[in-house]
Amino acid sequence: MITQLGGTMKFTLSEMYPGYKKEEVPEDVLKNLEILVKKLNELGKYYSKPVVVKRGYRAPDLNEKVGGVKNSPHMTGHAADLVDKDGEIDRFMMNNSDKLKKLGLYIEDPQETAGWCHIQFRKASTIFFNP
Ligand SMILES: [Zn+2]
Repeated sequence: MITQLGGTMKFTLSEMYPGYKKEEVPEDVLKNLEILVKKLNELGKYYSKPVVVKRGYRAPDLNEKVGGVKNSPHMTGHAADLVDKDGEIDRFMMNNSDKLKKLGLYIEDPQETAGWCHIQFRKASTIFFNP
């Protein structure tokens, strides 16, 4: 286990919509992002390495451009893609499914997302799911 207390994984709301201005983000999406950041920071108490939000909110036009799935949880503010320099975030998630379950967080199967970690609070079939 690499779980450590006194973690440094802490995000602000604006980190949840990289590339956008706050006024460009729909109200209902912002509300979801607020929930997301709260959950991530709760989880972040147990992770002490720096993590960056690579992708968060994605407007429908950008989602289409990057080939995101049609009902992508990124469009509704339910998801973020996390990147860490050491690539240890996936292992942390695998080792802490109890915390993910408690927080209602779901992870895209780490084997499908080498180099980043997709995390969402929109309900999925299992904690580690295949979209
Ligand atoms: Zn994602």
